[in-house]
Amino acid sequence: MSTLNSLSLIEQINGLAAGTFSATELVKAHLDAIDRHRALNAFITVTPELALDAAARADQLRARGEATELAGIPIAHKDLFCTEGVLTTCGSRMLSRFVAPYDAEVVTRCKAAGLSMLGKLNLDEFAMGSSNENSAYGPVRNPWDLDRVPGGSSGGSAAAVAARLTPLATATDTGGSIRQPAALTGTCGLKPTYGRVSRWGMVAYASSLDQGGLIARSAADLAIGLAVIAGHDPKDSTSARDLVPSYRDALDSPLKGLRIGLPTAFFDHRMSDAMRTRLTTVIQALTDLGAAMIEVELPHIDHAIPAYYVIAPAEASSNLSRFDGVRFGHRAADPKDLNDLYTRSRGEGFGSEVKRRILMGTYALSEGYYEAYYKKAQQIRRLIKMDFLQAFTQCDLLLGPTTPGVAFPIGAKTQDPVAMYLEDIYTVATNLAGLPGGSFPAGRIDGLPVGFQLMAPHFAESRILNVAHQVQQVTPWHHDHPEGL
Ligand code: GLN
Repeated sequence: MSTLNSLSLIEQINGLAAGTFSATELVKAHLDAIDRHRALNAFITVTPELALDAAARADQLRARGEATELAGIPIAHKDLFCTEGVLTTCGSRMLSRFVAPYDAEVVTRCKAAGLSMLGKLNLDEFAMGSSNENSAYGPVRNPWDLDRVPGGSSGGSAAAVAARLTPLATATDTGGSIRQPAALTGTCGLKPTYGRVSRWGMVAYASSLDQGGLIARSAADLAIGLAVIAGHDPKDSTSARDLVPSYRDALDSPLKGLRIGLPTAFFDHRMSDAMRTRLTTVIQALTDLGAAMIEVELPHIDHAIPAYYVIAPAEASSNLSRFDGVRFGHRAADPKDLNDLYTRSRGEGFGSEVKRRILMGTYALSEGYYEAYYKKAQQIRRLIKMDFLQAFTQCDLLLGPTTPGVAFPIGAKTQDPVAMYLEDIYTVATNLAGLPGGSFPAGRIDGLPVGFQLMAPHFAESRILNVAHQVQQVTPWHHDHPEGL
């Protein structure tokens, strides 16, 4: 019999309901797995006492017939979500001792659903990165090959799900940080529509782009998790009021007649032959399921990376000004004066990529450059959004790759920020347009996983999950996992 941590989320729910095992046994199996796989460096903080307490409560409730469906199911949170009484580091030295006085709304909702938090997951510092090499707590390793990156910035979330350390992990996506690591670890990741999931208590990187979401092992598992975290939150002024549909009910809709758009710019000469072969297999599965493929144009898509890498650092430079050594986090010792306190606290607390973003962002917002860079980037953002809206008059959703290739070796791109930024070429445009996007396993290249990406109109998360679930009924890729795990 396989160990409990290798069961999928649905199998875990069914096992608990049937009394095949207890929540305490289930949580223990995951805590043991976390211990065995310390080398992945997926967790910054493990909270065994809290997890076992929550599991014991779930077991008592279940014995009385009062448990919620998810009571006692393990979850782990990206260490960008505030957790009351538990360290929230954001992968930064700046917050190495920061304990939030309240829970993020996402965390509150998970607790209310009865989920047991196993701990806090490693990430790129303040979610800035594409490889999880920018964490002050060391790089996360890819369970498929420990010498390779898991992708970023939610690398801890993706590695933990891939290695079966948790069936479900929260993550955040500002320019691809849920989808890209999901692709590189053979897991499933969903970035919901901007505003679908509350940003309250999710430490800000670039507020107009940031969105919380999930990584799990199947589209069906994501549907269960999304129902927990989605919904209006009056504490977040950008939170959407749209009703949350039943994501689970939508999973089984037939795909006959669905129009899937293939953006020509995503399938041009820049795509490797191996990636084209993988996507062709996905397209074939979808065609067999009755969907029709059409080519669509996204005329301004090539400007997405430059626009994103102006807007995101600009917002970051403003958001991160709160870390000044006075109010939050690291404070330099023995300051000579206020200016010395500010400069040394920030100089010592932030890592080099965060400093690079603050410098770029401050520059783009400075007098004389604002019009040339920030304003231009916002205009491009608008054009990209219009491109998507236009494409969605011709098709129901879009399909493309998630990443240009497979997970790369640790250290391969750290000296070349532009090469690193180009990892996001297929993901940032959805954030600029506020659209939902998901990445799902598409098989392997040279033994390493890659993903296919689905992008849908605003608030059409159920369409993404439906299509991915149908593909997962007829293909084996999402069952693939690293040997021995
Ligand atoms: N790689 C992108 C960046 O560094 C996206 C990160 C994210 O989505 N959080 O900005």
